[in-house]
Amino acid sequence: MIKTDILIIGAGPTGLFTVFEAGLLKLRCHLIDALPIPGGQCSEIYPKKPIYDIPGFPEVLAGKLTDNLLEQGKQFEPGFTLGERAETIDKQEDGTFIVTTNRGTKHQAPVVAIAGGLGSFEPRKPLIEKITFYEDKGVEYFIKDPEVYRNKKVVISGGGDSALDWAIFLADVASEVTLVHRRNEFRGALDSVDTVQKLKILGKINLVTPAEVIKLHGEDKVEAVSVLKDGKEERIETDHFIPLFGLSPKLGPIGNWGLDIEKNAIKVDTFDYQTNIPGVFAIGDVNTYPGKLKLILCGFHEATLMCQSAFKIINPGKKHVMKYTTVSGIDGFDGSRKEAPKVVVKSII
Ligand SMILES: Cc1cc2nc3c(=O)[nH]c(=O)nc-3n(C[C@H](O)[C@H](O)[C@H](O)COP(=O)(O)OP(=O)(O)OC[C@H]3O[C@@H](n4cnc5c(N)ncnc54)[C@H](O)[C@@H]3O)c2cc1C
Repeated sequence: MIKTDILIIGAGPTGLFTVFEAGLLKLRCHLIDALPIPGGQCSEIYPKKPIYDIPGFPEVLAGKLTDNLLEQGKQFEPGFTLGERAETIDKQEDGTFIVTTNRGTKHQAPVVAIAGGLGSFEPRKPLIEKITFYEDKGVEYFIKDPEVYRNKKVVISGGGDSALDWAIFLADVASEVTLVHRRNEFRGALDSVDTVQKLKILGKINLVTPAEVIKLHGEDKVEAVSVLKDGKEERIETDHFIPLFGLSPKLGPIGNWGLDIEKNAIKVDTFDYQTNIPGVFAIGDVNTYPGKLKLILCGFHEATLMCQSAFKIINPGKKHVMKYTTVSGIDGFDGSRKEAPKVVVKSII
């Protein structure tokens, strides 16, 4: 049994920042994530994309933000159960919760913070025969490491931001990039559409529209795709086929925990993001309330307020006075101390 103060379900940016805010209140955290690495959407969907709206960071790669969040919370020694999905929650007589994963790992805590984001990631898959056979054998729904495509032939399918952005990025990495889309119009940032147009003229992106990938070929792995354009089938040799049709959000097992759910998100109050189950909070992309914005900075704010209420549940009757970190410094659970240089009283003669 893993015991902690706040059990966080989801190690995305919201869950990771909770570790820091909880640490300031001397609360320990343990995180469970179905993915094998922390970072949530930032690691799984767009690690190499720059984010421009994190306060204080004019530009930061999503992967780098994850590294920074891990570094920021390190001295509070969070525990991790990675590669396991939280399946069930059981309230105990003493008021604590036991959360069990699909592998049977049990965790106990007085406070549970669900930071499950979009839930388990389910990419929208095109209806192409045998596509599941080729998964991880040339068919990928997420680009984790662009280096995998260096000097390789790549066919990308889709008409949104992801398809445009990755086609642009891989134009300088892959030996050949083909972008296939059902329409001539793309739904993406104007900049990206213009860039794809330029790269097409330069011969760096082979644009096939309006068209659809309808077949995959290859013995053990993808060797070619068939594209249907103007009623004719064309074969394109390729090493990879990357359909980027977005993700369909699936809350997964959390949906059966007796929580108030609205449109695949957990309803919370806006005082401290508590759910209808006292002691169970929902923060970040996973929650909903009037005016909700699914942004990283909103998840950080929600985590901060949630920790204040968690402190009161864990330390009934005890008062916590908020202090600036610049004034109080930070005492890590690992014995480390960070503080601003002390003011000295010294005469100048
Ligand atoms: C392409 C793209 C670009 C974006 N750009 C920006 C941007 O520029 N600025 C911005 O602010 N936001 C951006 N976002 C949104 C941002 O990524 C999300 O708001 C943020 O990731 C939410 O963080 P989170 O920690 O709440 O959830 P997530 O990052 O979704 O993490 C949730 C984690 O919970 C885990 N999980 C879910 N259910 C379970 C379970 N039952 N058991 C165990 N683990 C579970 C998941 O595996 C996941 O790792 C972008 C999103 C995308 C897809």
